[in-house]
Amino acid sequence: MNAAFVVAHGGPEVLRYGVRPTPAAGRGDVLVRIRAASLNHLDLWVRNGIPGLPIQFPRILGADGAGEILELGDGAAEILAALPSAGGPVRARRPLEAGARVLLNPGLSCGRCEFCARGEENLCIRYRLVGEHVDGTWAECVAVPAASVFPAPDGLSFEACAAFPLVFLTAWRMVRVRGRLAPGETVLVHGVGGGVSSAALQIALEAGARVMVTSSSDEKLARAAEIGAERGVRYDREDVALAVREWTSKRGVDLVVDSVGGPAWSTSLDAVARGGRIVTCGATAGGDPPARIQRIFWKQVDVLGSTMGNRRDFEAVLEKVSAGALAPLIDSVFPLARAGDAMARLEARAHFGKIVLGVP
Ligand code: ZN
Repeated sequence: MNAAFVVAHGGPEVLRYGVRPTPAAGRGDVLVRIRAASLNHLDLWVRNGIPGLPIQFPRILGADGAGEILELGDGAAEILAALPSAGGPVRARRPLEAGARVLLNPGLSCGRCEFCARGEENLCIRYRLVGEHVDGTWAECVAVPAASVFPAPDGLSFEACAAFPLVFLTAWRMVRVRGRLAPGETVLVHGVGGGVSSAALQIALEAGARVMVTSSSDEKLARAAEIGAERGVRYDREDVALAVREWTSKRGVDLVVDSVGGPAWSTSLDAVARGGRIVTCGATAGGDPPARIQRIFWKQVDVLGSTMGNRRDFEAVLEKVSAGALAPLIDSVFPLARAGDAMARLEARAHFGKIVLGVP
């Protein structure tokens, strides 16, 4: 099968497009014919390499994917039939069989540890990600555990199905679960062009909150305003914390959604209201900014870590997308053979929403 994969850590030169062995559906696995995949910042981490993240090469990239079930491995049908479900349209479209349109939850958990046992799969001691620890979705086929496949919402294209799982799951848990966002609250979302932050904007609006966003691009602020952001700030030109004070009558925001870290961290501490919450899921701009502990205790801020989401979170997102309450934002679609060009667009931060790969 054709696939896009990395052969070592490095820049664009380590990405290859070519033939890789078609995976087999092992015990409990499902083999999926991928029709669309998408890009995440994770793909850049895997390619570039980060300390403490050992990667086996060659590694097919890609956490998100959607397509059709080609084959069920031994025992997979039983696993699919026994999966717990939140009910609603997701349950109604089960059980899944060969030929069914599906999308993937990129988080893989062991199903046996104490965290899995209490339904917190994203705290699993053996938590792994498709496209990082195992071969990913930038390929014609991928083999994943049966518990990772979910029915694709009716009427949603494969491109849209591949565009939302990782970022909507991550943003849902940040905003609704860890961030406990309530209707009428105010939210600051840093760097609104990124996949997680644009998803967080949509999820916060859907929850009935008022949202302010930041960007270094007028075009991205305009897009965010079209979606429903009440206020946009150029972080490269304006004092974001000051803009937040003006916007909230000096009070600060109830929730800050920070997937950036670095210099934005300090802004988050200034912008958050007394007794407010800051939820962090990433540090693309730096993982070790000044902690400013005095600010945290004096304002009694809840600093909340968040990563991916559990099965309940995934099904909650899927129900919202199925109902049309949340719609994936697609920036652009590249053919799989041009995965390198797609990565360049991601790396240049030229995108708004998700960059998708079509798999012929
Ligand atoms: Zn586990």
